[in-house]
Amino acid sequence: MAAKKATKYVYHFGNKTDGNGKMKALLGGKGANLAEMTRIALPVPPGYTITTEVCTYYNDHKKSYPKALQKQTEDGIKRMEKQLGKKFGDKKNPLLLSVRSGARESMPGMMDTILNLGLNDETVEALAESSGNARFAWDSYRRFIQMYGDVVMGVQKLPTEDEEPFEIVIEQVKRKLLGNAHADDTDLSAEDLQVLVAEFKKLVKSRTGKAFPNNPWDQLRGSVGAVFSSWMNDRAIVYRRKYNIPVEWGTAVNVQSMVFGNSGDNSGSGVAFTRDPATGENVFWGEFMMNAQGEDVVAGVRTPDPVAKLKKVLPSAHKELLRICRVLEKHFRDVQDFEFTIEEEKVFMLQTRNGKRTGLAAVRIACEMVKEKLITWKDAVTRIPADDLDQLLAPVFDRAAVRKMSAITKGLPAGPGAATGRVYFNAERAEAAKAKGEEVLLVRLETSPEDLRGMIAANGILTARGGVSSHAALVARQMGKICVCGAAGVQINYAKRTMKIGKTNFKEGDFLSIDGTSGEIFPGEVKTAPSEVVQGLLENKTAAKRSRTYRNFTQIMNWCAKVSKMQVRTNADTPEQVENAIAFGAAGIGLCRTEHMFLDPIRLPSVRQMLLNAEAAEAWRRENNDRVFRAENESDASQAVKDFYEALDQVRDLQTGDFSRILQVMGPRPVIIRLLDAPLHEFLPPYETLLIELMELRHVGAALEELEKKETFLHLVDSLRESNPMLGHRGCRLGLSFPAIYRMQVEAIITAGALLVKEGLDVSPEIMIPLTVDVEEMHRLREDLSLVASHVQERLGVKVHYKFGTMIETPRAALTAGEIAKESEFFSFGTNDLTQMVFGFSRDDAEGKFLRRYVDEGVLPDDPFASIDPQGVGALVKIGVGAGRRERPNLEIGICGEHGGDPASVAFCHEVGLDYVSCSPFRVPVARLAAAQAALTSNN
Ligand code: PEP
Ligand code: MG
Repeated sequence: MAAKKATKYVYHFGNKTDGNGKMKALLGGKGANLAEMTRIALPVPPGYTITTEVCTYYNDHKKSYPKALQKQTEDGIKRMEKQLGKKFGDKKNPLLLSVRSGARESMPGMMDTILNLGLNDETVEALAESSGNARFAWDSYRRFIQMYGDVVMGVQKLPTEDEEPFEIVIEQVKRKLLGNAHADDTDLSAEDLQVLVAEFKKLVKSRTGKAFPNNPWDQLRGSVGAVFSSWMNDRAIVYRRKYNIPVEWGTAVNVQSMVFGNSGDNSGSGVAFTRDPATGENVFWGEFMMNAQGEDVVAGVRTPDPVAKLKKVLPSAHKELLRICRVLEKHFRDVQDFEFTIEEEKVFMLQTRNGKRTGLAAVRIACEMVKEKLITWKDAVTRIPADDLDQLLAPVFDRAAVRKMSAITKGLPAGPGAATGRVYFNAERAEAAKAKGEEVLLVRLETSPEDLRGMIAANGILTARGGVSSHAALVARQMGKICVCGAAGVQINYAKRTMKIGKTNFKEGDFLSIDGTSGEIFPGEVKTAPSEVVQGLLENKTAAKRSRTYRNFTQIMNWCAKVSKMQVRTNADTPEQVENAIAFGAAGIGLCRTEHMFLDPIRLPSVRQMLLNAEAAEAWRRENNDRVFRAENESDASQAVKDFYEALDQVRDLQTGDFSRILQVMGPRPVIIRLLDAPLHEFLPPYETLLIELMELRHVGAALEELEKKETFLHLVDSLRESNPMLGHRGCRLGLSFPAIYRMQVEAIITAGALLVKEGLDVSPEIMIPLTVDVEEMHRLREDLSLVASHVQERLGVKVHYKFGTMIETPRAALTAGEIAKESEFFSFGTNDLTQMVFGFSRDDAEGKFLRRYVDEGVLPDDPFASIDPQGVGALVKIGVGAGRRERPNLEIGICGEHGGDPASVAFCHEVGLDYVSCSPFRVPVARLAAAQAALTSNN
């Protein structure tokens, strides 16, 4: 019997390759693309990738490896040795390696990297000899000890230390040898660096109790293990949660032969994009540093030069890089973000990946690549992360306000948009301030991956050091955060929590404003203005309409309209909101919450008068077996009843006016108007407040009449109080308890519609009953309210085409949807309440109390109020849709909970076959894009 072939854990690249760009799940993004670049003959230093399967094995098997790996690793090294004519650990011509992580999706800066591996006391001499540059060799060695000591051996900052321990040693050596602790690193000679290496080794021994390993194979084993372990470090876990990356994916490890950007003045390292990732402009964009390793460029410690400067410094390398850009874009058909090293004028590619970009850039690049025939318009639509479209609607500084201000300093524009907020110098405090509801700016010397939580909390990020590809800039862009980096004029004192910019002093909590498009920094709060898209669409400004951003945005929206199967409607309660939503492309109103119209302080007294007397009026109506809905002329009615009908008339007039304006704006588009839903006490002053007022009146000896009035009011409010208002007397229960209110609302809707029809307008109101639990509720209400509608139409002598339907927002409604559909022409899933009832979590308090922690700690994968929970809530939606459509095949079905504007939930709605999603006006573009993407990518 033939021996079973061992699983392949190691894939080679750099000369020939056995991998390719499609193998991201197994080789990680970096490994797969190193293989792919090998396939298209780009200059890649040879190496191999250890698969993500090994990571999973390693973390599941107490940090041990599959048996077959050792031999495959040795083969990998042998192959590199053969190709390069070098030998691992050789004292004459040593092969030196880099060891890097590489997950399926890039997680910038979250995992560990080791460079210059293979150096020891002997090989360092060989490197000095072969390069003819002893300083370079010893500098590489000290870097290796520093990285390995930190990452693999765990030399960490002590609580008493302000700086990293290796940095402290560097300063000590500089002080001792150069007389200046802050001298430049480049002032250290080869001999000085030898002293530094010895000191580093002492530090490692004293902190870890272990000697620094001299054997390259031990070094390799340690480094590979450290990279696999870093998959489970805290910052990687936080990052995965934020970006929904499953832990099972694991990271691959890339072992690659070193090329040296720090080997002299004809060498350097850089990070570049084939187009500008902030604006999308088609220019070669990025940064480089001569005589430096790649880590120096991204670390943000020295500020690098823009790549355009390379044309002067090293024209041949610049030309080669432009060629590479063209090859990359043509092959990958997307913007590439790549790392390169120039060793003695020769360019090497260390990695490439699809470049992260701002929403602004994503839209521009997509549109321009279609024009350049690199991609199709359908590719363009699927490529733009739907949520990122929000950035095109984000405010910019108000031009007039900025003209009056002068910038106190300028940094590099790294994430476009305008942000204002209170300054915080540390991530934890920024996060805490945000949790208290403050607008926050995170200001740091430079950011590191530890700052991630603070960056998430901040409106914008400002750093004093680092270039546009520093960690701060990269992560900010990805999150769509506004960012200015490398602002050298910003002097921060972490200990005192203060900052000085020019002559202006700031303390933590002071306001500051930053412009991530120009890099300017302003003191205090600067007024913001709507973006060009908003100015063009909502304010009809011609200049804005001519802007590239506006034109690209409308182009994308037009493409979306061509493919979407679902409509996007809006949740809007005022004519202004409705107009905005139409400008953004809403196809109708999915939810008009009529109770929001009641909350206007001028209207509230009539609304209160109506609600407080509703009980009395209903009792009177029942006693009189009344089927009509006006009673003010009845002479035997009590004052309460009269008051009720008087208020009802006032509210009816207000609502008729509101509906008329909304229906007029919407014309033939569907307008779903929901009848009163909220618990009654929401419209009344809190019981406790009234009680205190009453006690105060008693205390000051107020007149008896005033006291009695207050007491009556207090009792009425008390009679409407409930232990669980969310589960109480709300929704259609109110409609059945107090029929006069729903009748009044329907009268207002049909009157408004009828008068418009009389004027020749086409209108489509849809009357929606909230919180239904049983078909009988729908049956009774429909019978009663359709009488009202007929009555109005007869009186006004016109027909109004209206629909009658319900919200599905209780589990019982979803489970009995087939029955309910008998009485409903449409369903709208109210997933806010449905989520509340399915989970039993309060939609108002859960987030602050425990839900955020639940999500942070991974108990739940997402906040179910933000993104639909497919297993629970989603399962009920599916049941409801299936049963509803079986009963009534042309049933119109949509969703109007907050989920309607969440791209993942929009995709879910497409899958289950909804006719529309409805969301707030400013989310309409995001939902439209998400709906188009769902149509293009799903099988349904
Ligand atoms: C819902 O419950 O999802 C809904 C849209 O209604 P409201 O948020 O007004 O309760
Ligand atoms: Mg609801």
